[in-house]
Amino acid sequence: MNRRTILVLGAGYGGLTTVVNLQKQLGVNDADIVLVNKNDYHYETTWLHEAAAGTIDASKVRYDISNVVNRSKVSFVKATVQQINVQEKKVITSDGDMTYDYLVIGLGFEGETFGIPGLDKYALSLANLHAARGVREHIEYQFASWSLDDEKDDSKLTFIVGGAGFTGIEFLGELGNRVPTLCKEFNVPQEKVRILCVEAAPMVLPGFDPELVEYAVAQLNKKGIEFSIGTPIVEATPDGVKIKVAEDEFEFVKAKTVVWAAGIRGNHLIETSGIENNRARVRVEKDMRAPGFDEVFVVGDCAFLINEEAGRPYPPTAQIAMQQTVVVAKNIVHLINGEETIEFIPELKGSVCSLGHDDAIGDALGRKFKGKSASALKKIIDNRALYLIGGPSLVAKKGKFKLI
Ligand code: FAD
Ligand code: NAD
Repeated sequence: MNRRTILVLGAGYGGLTTVVNLQKQLGVNDADIVLVNKNDYHYETTWLHEAAAGTIDASKVRYDISNVVNRSKVSFVKATVQQINVQEKKVITSDGDMTYDYLVIGLGFEGETFGIPGLDKYALSLANLHAARGVREHIEYQFASWSLDDEKDDSKLTFIVGGAGFTGIEFLGELGNRVPTLCKEFNVPQEKVRILCVEAAPMVLPGFDPELVEYAVAQLNKKGIEFSIGTPIVEATPDGVKIKVAEDEFEFVKAKTVVWAAGIRGNHLIETSGIENNRARVRVEKDMRAPGFDEVFVVGDCAFLINEEAGRPYPPTAQIAMQQTVVVAKNIVHLINGEETIEFIPELKGSVCSLGHDDAIGDALGRKFKGKSASALKKIIDNRALYLIGGPSLVAKKGKFKLI
């Protein structure tokens, strides 16, 4: 039988973990595994809020792909995927065209701006490592610029965060911790700094445990963070954001920084791939294959499955992405061996939301956590993701050891 080519697109939690699982199960002569990623490193998407606030350096968030893939089994190609055509079994990349017997699409998420005017142009995001670094540099520049400014334009020190979901809250926790250092560094009186989180829904972290949410809001308030709840952002301009505060009533908040953390969609390349999708996400079959394409698997934020009990899709998380890859790798091996595929059944272990490096809330393992215990749990989860991909040596290199 011909050696099969398994082409994996994206080296995030979904793609890279699929490759790591495949290389454990396939021998050198069983298949050609080809991994394509924009960068020659993987970054921890779940740490991007820290890189964006500048509480950890971007170099800490990433590691070389060559350190975790078995080069005798996997060919890594540093390239940008430009087009996927599942009808022709072809992927166009910046490094040339590629074909496959089995395809795994793990190209991650992009920000969803819901067509709100100005956001694409004037808001920053945490969508990838470069974007996160851009946020950090922009914030530092605003502090420097205010210090040099004779007119002291305070909109330079006003920071708007759109969305009080997990991403928005985790970023606020880090930013709240960073501001005192920035004030000292740039000679800025701290009372001049305004951080405002604007949330459309009637509560922070919609759907999360209300008692834990109350704790989170109180802790963030202590860091000087304000909330405007039940008030969607309806427009962004170079000078700030327009917020709907009541029916037919709007407020404009002047700010030179808007970080949009109010929603995500799948990678836009899905939309032209020939696979049925909704906002660039594929409702995958139970075995993680794309509907109608038996040799195509979709993992991570580009995929969704319905939680029948809850009547809505499972949330796009690293936790689920990494679980999916175990089944995707097994199913590819099953198909190569001419066997039946198996079903992916998510195991929800709960969620932990950080509020800075030293504080968090968590509803996990059947218990509620807050403060230092939740923060320690979050770091254990972060280290576990490193362990699953790169084993103890990667944890030793990149892990978070100061547990509280
Ligand atoms: P990603 O991990 O984002 O990887 C996508 C990969 O594709 C990247 O390496 C990217 O470079 C590559 N890529 C993209 N486009 C191209 C292209 N055109 N060509 C080549 N390569 C490309 N989930 C949790 O479970 N727990 C958490 O604590 C948590 N914290 C989070 C914190 C933040 C700030 C954010 C933004 C998300 C968080 N999430 C968390 C969600 C989690 O990060 C995502 O669900 C997860 O990253 C999805 O994995 P993925 O492989 O689909 O995408
Ligand atoms: P989200 O969709 O979960 O939250 C976005 C928030 O923005 C919502 O609360 C929504 O009401 C609000 N919003 C929407 N439109 C708005 C508008 N016009 N103005 C103001 N607010 C608006 O997005 P997210 O927080 O980026 O999370 C994405 C996924 O990543 C989720 O599945 C989440 O669970 C996961 N995640 C998990 C963690 C963690 O486990 N610690 C951290 C970050 C992200």
